[in-house]
Order: sequence, then C-alpha cells, then structure tokens
Amino acid sequence: MKFKFLGTRGSYPSQKEEHLSYGGNTSCVELSNHQHRLILDAGTGILGLDFELYANLPRIDILLTHLHMDHIQGLAFFKPLFKKNLEVHIWGPGGTSNSLRSHLNRYFSPPLFPVPIRELPCQLHIHEISNSTFTIGAFEITTAFVIHPGPTLGYRIKNGAKVITYIPDHEPMVGSQKLYNKDKWVSGFSLCKNADVLIHDSMYTKEEYPSKIGWGHSSTEHVIQLARRAGVKQLFLFHHNPEYPDNFLEQRLDRIRQNHHEPYDILLATQGMEYEL
Ligand SMILES: [Zn+2]
Ligand SMILES: [Zn+2]
Repeated sequence: MKFKFLGTRGSYPSQKEEHLSYGGNTSCVELSNHQHRLILDAGTGILGLDFELYANLPRIDILLTHLHMDHIQGLAFFKPLFKKNLEVHIWGPGGTSNSLRSHLNRYFSPPLFPVPIRELPCQLHIHEISNSTFTIGAFEITTAFVIHPGPTLGYRIKNGAKVITYIPDHEPMVGSQKLYNKDKWVSGFSLCKNADVLIHDSMYTKEEYPSKIGWGHSSTEHVIQLARRAGVKQLFLFHHNPEYPDNFLEQRLDRIRQNHHEPYDILLATQGMEYEL
C-alpha cells in the first residue's frame, strides 16, 4: 500500500512562504493499493489529487473523520462530484441529532454553496459510520470515536499485513500530562495498537497546551506517549499549526529527538510526499 500527503496543515490553509516546505493545504491523505484509492478527509489538499490516476477506477471513496471546515473545505470543489454517473462514496460520522447526509446538505446549500447535494451529477452514496468495521476491496477499515469536539472518528486501515492509523484531530489526555493507566481507557489506543504508521494531530507544544485544554488537539508530548505505549513503528506529526512556520516545526522536532529517545521514527508529514509500506 502507498500513502501520500496532499494536505498537512490544520485549521486553515496557508500560502505563506514560511509554510510551504511542509505544506499549506488542510488535511487530506491518499491511500492506494493495486485496486483502490481511498481519500482520507477532504480539506483543501483534496484539490491537489491527480484525477488521471482515477480514470480507470470503478469508484471513489472519501473517508471523513469529522465535519470541521478544515476537513471538508475542498469537498464542494472536488471535480469527481460533478462527473455524471461516477460512483462516489462518502463515509463519516453523523451528529448527535442530525445525520451525516443532513450535515452535508447544510454545507452543499445556499448561501454557503450554490449547488444542493441532490443536484450533484455523480452517483453519490453516503455511509454514516460510528465504531465500525468494513472493507473496501482489500482495505480492512476499523473506525472508532476519539476525543475531539463533535463526533469525530479515527481510522485504522489494514492492507495485507500492514496497518496505517489516521487520527488528525485528537486530544487523547484532556487536561493531563499522562495517559490513563489502562489501555482500554485511552482514546484512540485500539486504533493505534502496533500500527506500522501513525498519522496524528500535533497542533501544540508542551508549553502551549495548558492554555488550549479542551480544544481537541494534542501536544507533541501527548502524541509521543500515545505512539510509544501503542507500539507504533513510525509516527508522522500531522495537522501542523498554521501559526507555526516550518523552521519552528523543525526546531520542535529536533528538540523532541534530543529529549526523547523513542524506539520508533518520528517525521513531519510533508505535503506532496509519498511512501510505500
Ligand atoms: Zn482539523
Ligand atoms: Zn477538528
């Protein structure tokens, strides 16, 4: 399986030069095997997809973690939705009182957007999921709710023997500096367990986090603890804070590597980079 970062920035897109080394587009990751391509989240990164690669595929699958704007901002401008009879599947969580479809209807309706969802020419299938398991071709997908404001899913995706876990927005220890003692109480733990790759929220520094408790995001120290405890093999720090320039992200990573000797790789997710597992 391959994966490619199309959007790595959190909260809002940026075209500032100081953000372009690691990317200015918001959350989107593409996963592919020989038969299928999955698109994780539909931030502005989705607009950088190479549609030629999809020309001979029977369907497109978009897996949404949640409906915050930075994860759906590119969806309304995603060209395949406007392609007649193309099969497009959107997977994601519903709300506490409204369905996924009705939430997407609100986004695809005036005054926010001129084309209502019912008038999209593609063959649209909307799948509301919660703590679920399902397959798309050879991809075995497990989802679970994680701590973040509003219903938010994390994804664990298995292809053959390899596992990628994607949790772009997550606050695994609200207001604490330590994970719960029991694994089963730790938000997102079962999704991360022994994953080959973990792509995870890393919005804040340790120093900044105390002023952002309850905002739904991680400090780097939180992610590192979670990755270590879960036994992941490679960690990509993701959902980069748009207030941090790229050189700050690099300095923070250097400091992490000096202070923590982790038994796994830690990398900064970089827009445009593709990896094979
Ligand atoms: Zn986000
Ligand atoms: Zn969010």
